Amino acid sequence: MGQIRVLEQAVAERIAAGEVVERPASVVKELIENSLDAGATQVVVEVAGAGIDLIRVGDNGSGMDADDLRLSVRRFATSKIAAADDLQQVRTFGFRGEALPSIAAVSHLEITSAPAGAVEALRLRLTGGTAAREETAGAPAGTTVTVRRLFYNTPARRKFLKSPSREFALVVDTVNRLALAHPAVAFRLIHQGGEVVRYPAGRDDDRMAAVLGPDTYERTEALHEVVGDLVISGRLGRPELARATRRHQYCFVNRRTVQSRMLTGAIEHAYHQLLPVGRFPIFAVFIDLSPDRVDVNVHPRKVEVRFDDDHQVFGAVSRAVRAALRAVPLIRTADTPQIAVTPEAGLVPLPLSDATTFTGVAEPTVVSSTGRLPAMRLLGQLHGTYLLAQSDGGMVVIDQHAAHERVLYERLLRKRTRGAGDSQVLIAPVTVTLEPGDAGLVEAHGQALADLGFHLEPFGDRTVLIRAVPGGLDVSSPERLLRDLLAELAGGDRLRSAQSHLERLTIATACHTAVRAGDRLNGEQMAMLLRDLAETDDPFTCFHGRPTMITIPLTDVDRWFLRK
Ligand code: ADP
Ligand code: MG
Repeated sequence: MGQIRVLEQAVAERIAAGEVVERPASVVKELIENSLDAGATQVVVEVAGAGIDLIRVGDNGSGMDADDLRLSVRRFATSKIAAADDLQQVRTFGFRGEALPSIAAVSHLEITSAPAGAVEALRLRLTGGTAAREETAGAPAGTTVTVRRLFYNTPARRKFLKSPSREFALVVDTVNRLALAHPAVAFRLIHQGGEVVRYPAGRDDDRMAAVLGPDTYERTEALHEVVGDLVISGRLGRPELARATRRHQYCFVNRRTVQSRMLTGAIEHAYHQLLPVGRFPIFAVFIDLSPDRVDVNVHPRKVEVRFDDDHQVFGAVSRAVRAALRAVPLIRTADTPQIAVTPEAGLVPLPLSDATTFTGVAEPTVVSSTGRLPAMRLLGQLHGTYLLAQSDGGMVVIDQHAAHERVLYERLLRKRTRGAGDSQVLIAPVTVTLEPGDAGLVEAHGQALADLGFHLEPFGDRTVLIRAVPGGLDVSSPERLLRDLLAELAGGDRLRSAQSHLERLTIATACHTAVRAGDRLNGEQMAMLLRDLAETDDPFTCFHGRPTMITIPLTDVDRWFLRK
Protein backbone atom coordinates (compact mmCIF):
# COMPACT_ATOMS: atom_id res chain seq x y z
CA MET A 1 0.00 0.00 0.00
CA GLY A 2 2.47 2.59 1.25
CA GLN A 3 2.13 6.33 1.66
CA ILE A 4 -0.07 6.66 4.69
CA ARG A 5 -1.17 10.23 5.42
CA VAL A 6 -3.27 11.64 8.19
CA LEU A 7 -6.49 12.96 6.65
CA GLU A 8 -7.16 16.63 6.99
CA GLN A 9 -9.79 17.36 9.57
CA ALA A 10 -12.25 18.55 6.95
CA VAL A 11 -12.09 15.17 5.22
CA ALA A 12 -12.16 13.21 8.46
CA GLU A 13 -15.30 15.00 9.51
CA ARG A 14 -17.15 13.80 6.44
CA ILE A 15 -16.64 10.21 7.34
CA ALA A 16 -19.54 8.35 8.89
CA ALA A 17 -18.76 8.41 12.58
CA GLY A 18 -19.60 5.68 15.02
CA GLU A 19 -18.32 2.61 16.73
CA VAL A 20 -16.17 0.48 14.48
CA VAL A 21 -15.35 -2.21 16.97
CA GLU A 22 -18.53 -3.66 18.31
CA ARG A 23 -17.55 -7.27 18.83
CA PRO A 24 -14.80 -9.75 17.92
CA ALA A 25 -16.34 -10.32 14.48
CA SER A 26 -16.00 -6.63 13.65
CA VAL A 27 -12.28 -6.76 14.46
CA VAL A 28 -11.93 -9.80 12.21
CA LYS A 29 -13.78 -7.99 9.42
CA GLU A 30 -11.63 -4.85 9.61
CA LEU A 31 -8.37 -6.79 9.74
CA ILE A 32 -9.27 -9.07 6.82
CA GLU A 33 -10.40 -6.08 4.78
CA ASN A 34 -7.03 -4.46 5.41
CA SER A 35 -5.32 -7.63 4.18
CA LEU A 36 -7.48 -7.64 1.05
CA ASP A 37 -6.78 -3.96 0.44
CA ALA A 38 -3.07 -4.79 0.74
CA GLY A 39 -3.45 -7.29 -2.12
CA ALA A 40 -3.00 -10.42 -0.01
CA THR A 41 -3.61 -13.79 -1.66
CA GLN A 42 -3.45 -15.69 1.62
CA VAL A 43 -5.16 -14.76 4.84
CA VAL A 44 -4.91 -16.76 8.05
CA VAL A 45 -7.24 -15.95 10.92
CA GLU A 46 -6.61 -17.35 14.35
CA VAL A 47 -9.08 -16.98 17.19
CA ALA A 48 -9.07 -18.10 20.81
CA GLY A 49 -11.66 -17.54 23.50
CA ALA A 50 -14.29 -16.40 20.99
CA GLY A 51 -11.96 -13.57 19.97
CA ILE A 52 -11.71 -12.00 23.39
CA ASP A 53 -8.46 -13.74 24.27
CA LEU A 54 -6.92 -13.65 20.83
CA ILE A 55 -7.54 -12.59 17.26
CA ARG A 56 -4.66 -12.84 14.85
CA VAL A 57 -4.86 -12.04 11.16
CA GLY A 58 -1.81 -12.71 9.05
CA ASP A 59 -1.45 -11.92 5.35
CA ASN A 60 1.07 -12.00 2.53
CA GLY A 61 0.06 -8.57 1.25
CA SER A 62 2.14 -5.51 0.51
CA GLY A 63 3.27 -4.97 4.10
CA MET A 64 4.30 -1.60 5.49
CA ASP A 65 7.66 0.03 5.99
CA ALA A 66 8.58 1.42 9.39
CA ASP A 67 7.19 4.92 8.82
CA ASP A 68 3.87 3.64 7.52
CA LEU A 69 3.59 1.13 10.31
CA ARG A 70 3.94 3.85 12.94
CA LEU A 71 1.37 6.00 11.16
CA SER A 72 -1.10 3.17 10.59
CA VAL A 73 -2.28 3.17 14.20
CA ARG A 74 -3.03 6.89 14.26
CA ARG A 75 -6.58 8.12 13.80
CA PHE A 76 -7.58 9.10 10.28
CA ALA A 77 -4.27 7.83 8.95
CA THR A 78 -4.90 6.06 5.67
CA SER A 79 -3.20 5.35 2.39
CA LYS A 80 -6.54 4.87 0.64
CA ILE A 81 -7.99 8.32 0.21
CA ALA A 82 -6.45 11.77 0.38
CA ALA A 83 -9.24 14.23 -0.36
CA ALA A 84 -12.96 14.45 0.26
CA ASP A 85 -13.71 13.83 -3.43
CA ASP A 86 -12.05 10.43 -3.21
CA LEU A 87 -14.95 9.28 -1.05
CA GLN A 88 -17.10 9.22 -4.17
CA GLN A 89 -14.85 6.73 -5.92
CA VAL A 90 -13.70 4.41 -3.16
CA ARG A 91 -12.62 1.05 -4.49
CA THR A 92 -10.85 -0.17 -1.38
CA PHE A 93 -12.66 -1.65 1.61
CA GLY A 94 -11.12 0.77 4.07
CA PHE A 95 -10.96 4.49 3.58
CA ARG A 96 -11.23 6.21 6.90
CA GLY A 97 -8.08 5.24 8.76
CA GLU A 98 -10.05 4.38 11.86
CA ALA A 99 -9.93 0.64 12.27
CA LEU A 100 -6.43 0.06 13.60
CA PRO A 101 -6.51 2.93 16.12
CA SER A 102 -10.02 1.92 17.26
CA ILE A 103 -8.96 -1.68 17.80
CA ALA A 104 -5.72 -0.58 19.46
CA ALA A 105 -7.65 1.61 21.91
CA VAL A 106 -9.56 -1.33 23.39
CA SER A 107 -6.98 -4.11 23.36
CA HIS A 108 -3.36 -5.14 23.55
CA LEU A 109 -2.31 -4.85 19.93
CA GLU A 110 0.75 -6.06 18.11
CA ILE A 111 1.47 -5.42 14.43
CA THR A 112 4.36 -6.99 12.61
CA SER A 113 4.89 -5.89 9.05
CA ALA A 114 7.49 -5.96 6.32
CA PRO A 115 7.24 -4.78 2.74
CA ALA A 116 8.44 -7.08 -0.02
CA GLY A 117 12.22 -7.26 -0.14
CA ALA A 118 12.79 -5.98 3.39
CA VAL A 119 15.50 -7.72 5.37
CA GLU A 120 13.53 -7.66 8.55
CA ALA A 121 10.10 -6.78 9.85
CA LEU A 122 9.19 -4.17 12.43
CA ARG A 123 6.96 -5.08 15.31
CA LEU A 124 4.90 -2.50 17.18
CA ARG A 125 3.20 -3.14 20.49
CA LEU A 126 0.47 -0.95 21.91
CA THR A 127 -1.59 -1.15 25.07
CA GLY A 128 -4.92 0.64 25.07
CA GLY A 129 -3.75 2.61 22.06
CA THR A 130 -0.46 3.79 23.57
CA ALA A 131 2.69 2.66 21.89
CA ALA A 132 4.59 0.48 24.30
CA ARG A 133 7.41 -1.08 22.37
CA GLU A 134 9.06 -1.34 18.97
CA GLU A 135 11.32 -4.15 17.92
CA THR A 136 12.59 -5.80 14.79
CA ALA A 137 11.57 -9.28 13.91
CA GLY A 138 12.32 -11.81 11.25
CA ALA A 139 9.17 -12.20 9.25
CA PRO A 140 8.21 -12.81 5.64
CA ALA A 141 6.74 -9.94 3.62
CA GLY A 142 3.23 -9.14 4.75
CA THR A 143 1.48 -8.12 7.89
CA THR A 144 0.32 -9.90 11.01
CA VAL A 145 -1.95 -8.15 13.47
CA THR A 146 -2.50 -9.72 16.87
CA VAL A 147 -5.26 -8.49 19.14
CA ARG A 148 -5.27 -9.73 22.73
CA ARG A 149 -7.61 -9.02 25.65
CA LEU A 150 -10.21 -7.28 23.55
CA PHE A 151 -12.31 -4.78 25.54
CA TYR A 152 -10.07 -5.24 28.60
CA ASN A 153 -10.54 -1.53 29.42
CA THR A 154 -14.18 -1.21 28.35
CA PRO A 155 -16.13 -3.61 30.57
CA ALA A 156 -19.42 -2.05 29.45
CA ARG A 157 -18.83 -3.17 25.90
CA ARG A 158 -17.89 -6.64 27.02
CA LYS A 159 -21.20 -6.92 28.77
CA PHE A 160 -23.07 -6.51 25.50
CA LEU A 161 -21.42 -9.50 23.94
CA LYS A 162 -23.40 -12.65 23.34
CA SER A 163 -22.32 -16.10 24.45
CA PRO A 164 -18.84 -17.20 23.36
CA SER A 165 -20.30 -19.73 20.92
CA ARG A 166 -22.53 -17.07 19.37
CA GLU A 167 -19.63 -14.61 19.07
CA PHE A 168 -17.50 -17.28 17.46
CA ALA A 169 -20.33 -18.12 15.06
CA LEU A 170 -20.33 -14.46 14.04
CA VAL A 171 -16.58 -14.64 13.41
CA VAL A 172 -17.09 -17.68 11.18
CA ASP A 173 -19.90 -15.88 9.36
CA THR A 174 -17.64 -12.87 8.81
CA VAL A 175 -14.87 -15.02 7.38
CA ASN A 176 -17.39 -16.83 5.17
CA ARG A 177 -18.83 -13.62 3.78
CA LEU A 178 -15.41 -12.18 2.97
CA ALA A 179 -14.29 -15.51 1.55
CA LEU A 180 -17.33 -15.71 -0.74
CA ALA A 181 -16.48 -12.30 -2.16
CA HIS A 182 -12.80 -13.16 -2.68
CA PRO A 183 -12.45 -16.61 -4.15
CA ALA A 184 -8.94 -15.90 -5.46
CA VAL A 185 -7.70 -15.42 -1.91
CA ALA A 186 -6.96 -18.49 0.23
CA PHE A 187 -8.45 -18.36 3.71
CA ARG A 188 -7.85 -20.38 6.85
CA LEU A 189 -9.59 -20.02 10.17
CA ILE A 190 -8.04 -21.58 13.23
CA HIS A 191 -9.99 -21.81 16.46
CA GLN A 192 -8.33 -22.83 19.74
CA GLY A 193 -5.51 -24.33 17.72
CA GLY A 194 -7.70 -26.40 15.39
CA GLU A 195 -8.42 -25.59 11.77
CA VAL A 196 -12.16 -24.97 11.25
CA VAL A 197 -12.12 -23.42 7.78
CA ARG A 198 -9.80 -23.96 4.85
CA TYR A 199 -10.65 -22.41 1.52
CA PRO A 200 -7.99 -22.79 -1.15
CA ALA A 201 -7.81 -20.11 -3.82
CA GLY A 202 -10.24 -20.87 -6.63
CA ARG A 203 -12.98 -19.57 -8.82
CA ASP A 204 -16.33 -18.12 -7.74
CA ASP A 205 -18.16 -21.42 -7.99
CA ASP A 206 -15.50 -23.42 -6.14
CA ARG A 207 -15.62 -20.96 -3.29
CA MET A 208 -19.38 -20.89 -3.26
CA ALA A 209 -19.50 -24.69 -3.02
CA ALA A 210 -16.90 -24.65 -0.26
CA VAL A 211 -18.72 -22.04 1.84
CA LEU A 212 -22.28 -23.24 1.27
CA GLY A 213 -21.33 -26.90 1.40
CA PRO A 214 -21.42 -29.05 -1.75
CA ASP A 215 -24.90 -30.47 -1.05
CA THR A 216 -26.42 -27.03 -0.70
CA TYR A 217 -24.47 -25.67 -3.64
CA GLU A 218 -25.86 -28.40 -5.85
CA ARG A 219 -29.33 -27.13 -5.08
CA THR A 220 -28.61 -23.56 -6.16
CA GLU A 221 -29.14 -22.04 -9.58
CA ALA A 222 -26.86 -19.66 -11.43
CA LEU A 223 -27.73 -15.99 -11.72
CA HIS A 224 -26.14 -13.76 -14.30
CA GLU A 225 -27.69 -10.68 -15.80
CA VAL A 226 -26.31 -7.44 -17.14
CA VAL A 227 -28.61 -4.42 -17.03
CA GLY A 228 -26.86 -1.34 -18.34
CA ASP A 229 -23.83 -0.85 -16.12
CA LEU A 230 -25.30 -3.12 -13.46
CA VAL A 231 -24.00 -6.68 -13.27
CA ILE A 232 -26.11 -9.03 -11.16
CA SER A 233 -24.66 -12.47 -10.52
CA GLY A 234 -24.39 -15.26 -7.99
CA ARG A 235 -26.27 -18.36 -6.92
CA LEU A 236 -29.90 -18.70 -5.90
CA GLY A 237 -31.02 -21.41 -3.52
CA ARG A 238 -33.87 -23.51 -4.80
CA PRO A 239 -37.06 -23.01 -2.81
CA GLU A 240 -36.57 -26.31 -0.99
CA LEU A 241 -33.47 -24.86 0.70
CA ALA A 242 -35.39 -22.02 2.31
CA ARG A 243 -34.78 -21.50 6.01
CA ALA A 244 -36.64 -20.00 8.91
CA THR A 245 -34.07 -17.18 9.19
CA ARG A 246 -32.19 -14.92 6.83
CA ARG A 247 -28.81 -16.07 8.10
CA HIS A 248 -27.83 -17.70 4.83
CA GLN A 249 -28.44 -14.71 2.65
CA TYR A 250 -25.28 -13.15 1.30
CA CYS A 251 -25.36 -9.81 -0.52
CA PHE A 252 -22.36 -8.07 -1.99
CA VAL A 253 -22.01 -4.72 -3.67
CA ASN A 254 -18.77 -4.34 -5.57
CA ARG A 255 -17.51 -7.34 -3.58
CA ARG A 256 -18.23 -5.55 -0.32
CA THR A 257 -20.39 -7.53 2.09
CA VAL A 258 -23.45 -5.45 2.80
CA GLN A 259 -26.70 -5.59 4.69
CA SER A 260 -29.32 -4.02 2.53
CA ARG A 261 -33.00 -4.38 3.20
CA MET A 262 -33.60 -3.09 -0.28
CA LEU A 263 -31.51 -5.80 -1.95
CA THR A 264 -32.84 -8.55 0.28
CA GLY A 265 -36.33 -7.27 -0.39
CA ALA A 266 -35.78 -7.27 -4.15
CA ILE A 267 -34.52 -10.85 -4.11
CA GLU A 268 -37.25 -12.12 -1.80
CA HIS A 269 -39.81 -10.37 -3.95
CA ALA A 270 -38.68 -12.52 -6.85
CA TYR A 271 -39.26 -15.65 -4.76
CA HIS A 272 -42.85 -14.58 -4.22
CA GLN A 273 -45.17 -17.59 -4.25
CA LEU A 274 -42.25 -19.96 -4.44
CA LEU A 275 -41.99 -20.03 -0.66
CA PRO A 276 -44.50 -20.21 2.14
CA VAL A 277 -44.81 -17.21 4.46
CA GLY A 278 -42.05 -17.20 7.08
CA ARG A 279 -39.50 -19.09 4.97
CA PHE A 280 -36.51 -17.24 3.55
CA PRO A 281 -34.51 -18.12 0.48
CA ILE A 282 -30.78 -18.67 0.71
CA PHE A 283 -28.61 -16.93 -1.86
CA ALA A 284 -25.30 -15.27 -2.60
CA VAL A 285 -25.90 -12.32 -4.88
CA PHE A 286 -23.26 -9.96 -6.22
CA ILE A 287 -24.15 -6.53 -7.52
CA ASP A 288 -21.40 -4.76 -9.40
CA LEU A 289 -21.71 -1.21 -10.60
CA SER A 290 -19.65 1.90 -10.97
CA PRO A 291 -18.42 3.00 -7.51
CA ASP A 292 -19.78 6.49 -8.01
CA ARG A 293 -23.30 5.07 -8.15
CA VAL A 294 -23.10 3.74 -4.62
CA ASP A 295 -22.25 5.52 -1.38
CA VAL A 296 -20.33 3.29 1.01
CA ASN A 297 -19.76 6.05 3.53
CA VAL A 298 -23.07 5.80 5.35
CA HIS A 299 -22.31 3.37 8.14
CA PRO A 300 -19.39 3.22 10.61
CA ARG A 301 -18.76 -0.47 9.94
CA LYS A 302 -19.46 0.03 6.24
CA VAL A 303 -22.15 -2.67 6.22
CA GLU A 304 -24.83 -0.48 4.71
CA VAL A 305 -24.65 1.24 1.36
CA ARG A 306 -26.83 3.69 -0.48
CA PHE A 307 -27.52 3.55 -4.20
CA ASP A 308 -28.03 6.60 -6.38
CA ASP A 309 -31.21 5.01 -7.70
CA ASP A 310 -32.70 2.45 -5.32
CA HIS A 311 -35.74 2.03 -7.47
CA GLN A 312 -33.79 1.06 -10.55
CA VAL A 313 -31.55 -1.36 -8.65
CA PHE A 314 -34.55 -2.96 -6.91
CA GLY A 315 -36.35 -3.51 -10.19
CA ALA A 316 -33.32 -4.83 -12.04
CA VAL A 317 -32.33 -7.24 -9.26
CA SER A 318 -35.84 -8.50 -8.74
CA ARG A 319 -36.41 -9.09 -12.45
CA ALA A 320 -33.04 -10.81 -12.88
CA VAL A 321 -33.66 -13.17 -9.97
CA ARG A 322 -37.17 -13.90 -11.13
CA ALA A 323 -36.02 -14.68 -14.64
CA ALA A 324 -33.29 -16.98 -13.36
CA LEU A 325 -35.75 -18.86 -11.15
CA ARG A 326 -38.31 -19.11 -13.91
CA ALA A 327 -35.78 -20.53 -16.34
CA VAL A 328 -35.08 -23.75 -14.48
CA PRO A 329 -37.17 -26.68 -13.28
CA LEU A 330 -37.78 -26.31 -9.58
CA ILE A 331 -39.22 -29.70 -8.78
CA ARG A 332 -38.39 -30.52 -5.23
CA THR A 333 -36.53 -33.70 -4.52
CA ALA A 334 -37.80 -35.73 -1.62
CA ASP A 335 -35.56 -35.49 1.42
CA THR A 336 -34.53 -39.08 1.66
CA PRO A 337 -34.83 -40.22 5.23
CA GLN A 338 -31.85 -42.17 6.47
CA ILE A 339 -33.57 -45.50 6.52
CA ALA A 340 -31.74 -48.10 8.49
CA VAL A 341 -32.99 -51.34 7.03
CA THR A 342 -33.02 -53.94 9.74
CA PRO A 343 -34.91 -57.22 9.65
CA GLU A 344 -37.40 -55.82 12.17
CA ALA A 345 -38.13 -52.80 10.04
CA GLY A 346 -39.02 -55.05 7.16
CA LEU A 347 -41.76 -56.68 9.14
CA VAL A 348 -44.21 -53.80 9.29
CA PRO A 349 -47.46 -55.21 7.88
CA LEU A 350 -48.91 -53.38 4.89
CA PRO A 351 -52.37 -52.00 5.64
CA LEU A 352 -54.10 -53.92 2.90
CA SER A 353 -57.36 -52.03 3.04
CA ASP A 354 -55.54 -48.93 1.83
CA ALA A 355 -54.71 -50.62 -1.41
CA THR A 356 -58.27 -50.02 -2.46
CA THR A 357 -57.70 -46.28 -2.46
CA PHE A 358 -55.35 -46.47 -5.40
CA THR A 359 -57.07 -45.51 -8.60
CA GLY A 360 -55.06 -46.55 -11.60
CA VAL A 361 -55.48 -45.09 -15.03
CA ALA A 362 -56.90 -47.43 -17.62
CA GLU A 363 -54.89 -46.03 -20.51
CA PRO A 364 -51.44 -45.00 -19.34
CA THR A 365 -51.32 -41.28 -20.12
CA VAL A 366 -48.12 -39.65 -21.13
CA VAL A 367 -47.85 -35.95 -20.43
CA SER A 368 -45.16 -34.72 -22.73
CA SER A 369 -42.43 -32.46 -21.49
CA THR A 370 -43.38 -28.81 -21.71
CA GLY A 371 -41.55 -25.76 -20.53
CA ARG A 372 -39.77 -26.77 -17.41
CA LEU A 373 -41.80 -29.89 -16.64
CA PRO A 374 -40.27 -33.23 -17.56
CA ALA A 375 -42.29 -35.79 -19.48
CA MET A 376 -44.35 -37.99 -17.18
CA ARG A 377 -46.36 -41.14 -17.47
CA LEU A 378 -49.36 -40.91 -15.19
CA LEU A 379 -49.94 -44.04 -13.13
CA GLY A 380 -52.84 -43.18 -10.87
CA GLN A 381 -54.15 -41.54 -7.75
CA LEU A 382 -52.99 -42.40 -4.25
CA HIS A 383 -55.47 -42.19 -1.40
CA GLY A 384 -57.67 -39.82 -3.31
CA THR A 385 -55.09 -37.09 -2.71
CA TYR A 386 -51.89 -37.50 -4.69
CA LEU A 387 -51.22 -38.31 -8.30
CA LEU A 388 -48.38 -40.67 -9.02
CA ALA A 389 -46.35 -40.50 -12.21
CA GLN A 390 -43.21 -42.04 -13.57
CA SER A 391 -40.60 -39.67 -14.89
CA ASP A 392 -37.34 -40.19 -16.67
CA GLY A 393 -35.18 -40.55 -13.61
CA GLY A 394 -37.67 -41.74 -11.05
CA MET A 395 -41.18 -40.95 -9.93
CA VAL A 396 -43.15 -37.83 -9.21
CA VAL A 397 -45.82 -37.37 -6.56
CA ILE A 398 -48.24 -34.53 -7.23
CA ASP A 399 -50.46 -32.88 -4.64
CA GLN A 400 -53.73 -32.62 -6.56
CA HIS A 401 -55.11 -29.72 -4.54
CA ALA A 402 -51.93 -27.61 -4.70
CA ALA A 403 -51.55 -28.40 -8.41
CA HIS A 404 -55.13 -27.48 -9.18
CA GLU A 405 -54.83 -24.28 -7.16
CA ARG A 406 -51.88 -23.27 -9.33
CA VAL A 407 -53.79 -24.05 -12.52
CA LEU A 408 -56.90 -22.12 -11.49
CA TYR A 409 -54.95 -19.19 -10.12
CA GLU A 410 -53.07 -18.67 -13.35
CA ARG A 411 -56.26 -19.13 -15.36
CA LEU A 412 -57.97 -16.43 -13.31
CA LEU A 413 -54.92 -14.21 -13.58
CA ARG A 414 -54.87 -14.48 -17.35
CA LYS A 415 -58.51 -13.53 -17.55
CA ARG A 416 -57.91 -10.60 -15.29
CA THR A 417 -55.08 -9.29 -17.41
CA ARG A 418 -57.14 -9.77 -20.51
CA GLY A 419 -59.74 -7.50 -18.91
CA ALA A 420 -62.36 -9.43 -16.98
CA GLY A 421 -65.71 -10.04 -18.58
CA ASP A 422 -65.07 -13.76 -18.69
CA SER A 423 -67.97 -15.08 -16.67
CA GLN A 424 -70.37 -17.96 -16.62
CA VAL A 425 -73.91 -16.71 -16.47
CA LEU A 426 -76.07 -18.76 -14.14
CA ILE A 427 -79.23 -20.19 -15.62
CA ALA A 428 -81.08 -19.17 -12.50
CA PRO A 429 -79.64 -16.26 -10.48
CA VAL A 430 -78.87 -17.13 -6.88
CA THR A 431 -80.21 -14.93 -4.11
CA VAL A 432 -77.90 -14.51 -1.11
CA THR A 433 -78.88 -12.84 2.12
CA LEU A 434 -75.77 -11.30 3.64
CA GLU A 435 -74.66 -10.75 7.20
CA PRO A 436 -75.05 -7.10 8.21
CA GLY A 437 -71.30 -6.38 7.83
CA ASP A 438 -70.96 -8.21 4.52
CA ALA A 439 -73.35 -6.01 2.57
CA GLY A 440 -70.87 -3.15 2.94
CA LEU A 441 -68.05 -5.39 1.73
CA VAL A 442 -69.87 -6.26 -1.45
CA GLU A 443 -70.31 -2.59 -2.14
CA ALA A 444 -66.75 -1.61 -1.21
CA HIS A 445 -65.16 -4.36 -3.30
CA GLY A 446 -67.68 -4.37 -6.11
CA GLN A 447 -65.03 -3.55 -8.69
CA ALA A 448 -62.64 -6.31 -7.62
CA LEU A 449 -65.48 -8.84 -7.59
CA ALA A 450 -66.54 -7.71 -11.04
CA ASP A 451 -62.97 -7.93 -12.33
CA LEU A 452 -62.92 -11.50 -11.17
CA GLY A 453 -66.05 -12.28 -13.18
CA PHE A 454 -68.90 -11.89 -10.73
CA HIS A 455 -72.10 -10.19 -11.79
CA LEU A 456 -73.80 -9.13 -8.60
CA GLU A 457 -76.97 -7.13 -8.32
CA PRO A 458 -78.24 -5.50 -5.16
CA PHE A 459 -81.63 -6.88 -4.31
CA GLY A 460 -82.98 -5.06 -1.32
CA ASP A 461 -81.04 -4.06 1.73
CA ARG A 462 -78.96 -7.08 2.59
CA THR A 463 -79.65 -9.30 -0.34
CA VAL A 464 -77.66 -9.68 -3.57
CA LEU A 465 -78.42 -11.58 -6.69
CA ILE A 466 -75.55 -13.58 -8.20
CA ARG A 467 -76.12 -13.50 -11.93
CA ALA A 468 -72.74 -14.80 -13.04
CA VAL A 469 -69.62 -16.32 -11.48
CA PRO A 470 -66.00 -16.31 -12.72
CA GLY A 471 -65.61 -18.39 -15.86
CA GLY A 472 -63.58 -21.52 -16.41
CA LEU A 473 -64.18 -22.84 -12.90
CA ASP A 474 -66.29 -25.56 -11.46
CA VAL A 475 -68.45 -23.56 -9.07
CA SER A 476 -70.75 -26.00 -7.32
CA SER A 477 -72.22 -23.40 -4.99
CA PRO A 478 -72.05 -19.77 -6.09
CA GLU A 479 -73.37 -18.78 -2.69
CA ARG A 480 -70.62 -20.58 -0.77
CA LEU A 481 -67.97 -19.12 -3.05
CA LEU A 482 -69.25 -15.60 -2.48
CA ARG A 483 -69.41 -16.12 1.28
CA ASP A 484 -65.85 -17.50 1.30
CA LEU A 485 -64.63 -14.46 -0.59
CA LEU A 486 -66.38 -12.07 1.75
CA ALA A 487 -64.84 -13.89 4.70
CA GLU A 488 -61.44 -13.45 3.05
CA LEU A 489 -62.07 -9.72 2.59
CA ALA A 490 -63.31 -9.35 6.17
CA GLY A 491 -60.31 -11.18 7.65
CA GLY A 492 -57.66 -8.56 8.44
CA ASP A 493 -54.78 -10.99 8.04
CA ARG A 494 -51.74 -8.81 8.39
CA LEU A 495 -49.49 -11.11 6.39
CA ARG A 496 -51.77 -10.85 3.45
CA SER A 497 -52.69 -7.22 3.72
CA ALA A 498 -49.79 -6.36 1.41
CA GLN A 499 -51.61 -8.10 -1.42
CA SER A 500 -54.27 -6.25 -3.29
CA HIS A 501 -57.89 -7.15 -2.69
CA LEU A 502 -58.14 -8.51 -6.18
CA GLU A 503 -55.12 -10.73 -5.59
CA ARG A 504 -56.63 -12.03 -2.36
CA LEU A 505 -59.92 -12.70 -4.10
CA THR A 506 -58.17 -14.49 -6.93
CA ILE A 507 -56.31 -16.73 -4.51
CA ALA A 508 -59.40 -17.41 -2.44
CA THR A 509 -61.41 -18.27 -5.55
CA ALA A 510 -58.76 -20.69 -6.80
CA CYS A 511 -58.50 -22.25 -3.36
CA HIS A 512 -62.27 -22.60 -3.05
CA THR A 513 -62.83 -24.21 -6.43
CA ALA A 514 -59.78 -26.48 -6.61
CA VAL A 515 -60.21 -30.21 -6.13
CA ARG A 516 -59.53 -31.18 -2.53
CA ALA A 517 -57.57 -33.87 -0.87
CA GLY A 518 -59.88 -36.88 -0.81
CA ASP A 519 -61.66 -36.07 -4.08
CA ARG A 520 -61.53 -39.13 -6.31
CA LEU A 521 -60.47 -38.29 -9.85
CA ASN A 522 -60.85 -40.50 -12.88
CA GLY A 523 -58.03 -41.06 -15.35
CA GLU A 524 -59.32 -38.38 -17.67
CA GLN A 525 -59.42 -35.78 -14.90
CA MET A 526 -55.96 -36.69 -13.65
CA ALA A 527 -54.47 -36.36 -17.12
CA MET A 528 -56.20 -33.05 -17.66
CA LEU A 529 -54.87 -31.71 -14.38
CA LEU A 530 -51.31 -32.68 -15.26
CA ARG A 531 -51.57 -31.19 -18.73
CA ASP A 532 -53.01 -27.97 -17.37
CA LEU A 533 -50.28 -27.81 -14.77
CA ALA A 534 -47.63 -28.27 -17.43
CA GLU A 535 -48.89 -25.15 -19.10
CA THR A 536 -48.64 -22.85 -16.10
CA ASP A 537 -45.81 -20.39 -15.64
CA ASP A 538 -45.02 -21.64 -12.17
CA PRO A 539 -45.89 -25.31 -12.06
CA PHE A 540 -43.77 -26.16 -9.04
CA THR A 541 -45.49 -24.33 -6.21
CA CYS A 542 -48.99 -23.23 -5.34
CA PHE A 543 -49.50 -19.58 -4.47
CA HIS A 544 -48.96 -20.36 -0.79
CA GLY A 545 -45.45 -21.43 -1.72
CA ARG A 546 -46.12 -25.09 -1.01
CA PRO A 547 -44.75 -27.55 -3.55
CA THR A 548 -47.17 -28.99 -6.08
CA MET A 549 -44.92 -31.94 -6.81
CA ILE A 550 -42.00 -33.83 -5.37
CA THR A 551 -39.69 -36.06 -7.29
CA ILE A 552 -38.18 -39.23 -5.90
CA PRO A 553 -35.11 -40.15 -7.92
CA LEU A 554 -34.77 -43.79 -8.80
CA THR A 555 -31.27 -43.67 -7.36
CA ASP A 556 -32.84 -42.97 -3.96
CA VAL A 557 -35.19 -45.91 -4.35
CA ASP A 558 -32.21 -48.06 -5.29
CA ARG A 559 -30.50 -46.92 -2.14
CA TRP A 560 -33.53 -47.82 0.01
CA PHE A 561 -33.22 -51.35 -1.28
CA LEU A 562 -29.48 -51.36 -0.72
CA ARG A 563 -28.81 -51.77 -4.39
CA LYS A 564 -26.19 -49.03 -4.25
P1 ADP B 1 -8.11 2.25 6.47
O1 ADP B 1 -8.19 0.81 6.11
O2 ADP B 1 -9.46 2.88 6.53
O3 ADP B 1 -7.15 3.03 5.66
P2 ADP B 1 -6.98 1.27 8.93
O4 ADP B 1 -6.87 1.88 10.30
O5 ADP B 1 -7.69 0.00 8.82
O6 ADP B 1 -7.60 2.35 7.99
O7 ADP B 1 -5.51 1.08 8.38
C1 ADP B 1 -4.65 2.22 8.27
C2 ADP B 1 -3.64 2.03 7.18
O8 ADP B 1 -2.72 1.01 7.57
C3 ADP B 1 -4.19 1.58 5.87
O9 ADP B 1 -4.61 2.66 5.06
C4 ADP B 1 -3.03 0.83 5.24
O10 ADP B 1 -2.17 1.72 4.55
C5 ADP B 1 -2.26 0.31 6.45
N1 ADP B 1 -2.56 -1.11 6.70
C6 ADP B 1 -3.41 -1.60 7.61
N2 ADP B 1 -3.45 -2.97 7.59
C7 ADP B 1 -2.57 -3.34 6.62
C8 ADP B 1 -2.15 -4.61 6.10
N3 ADP B 1 -2.65 -5.78 6.56
N4 ADP B 1 -1.23 -4.62 5.10
C9 ADP B 1 -0.71 -3.45 4.63
N5 ADP B 1 -1.07 -2.23 5.07
C10 ADP B 1 -2.00 -2.16 6.06
MG1 MG C 1 -9.06 -0.66 7.27
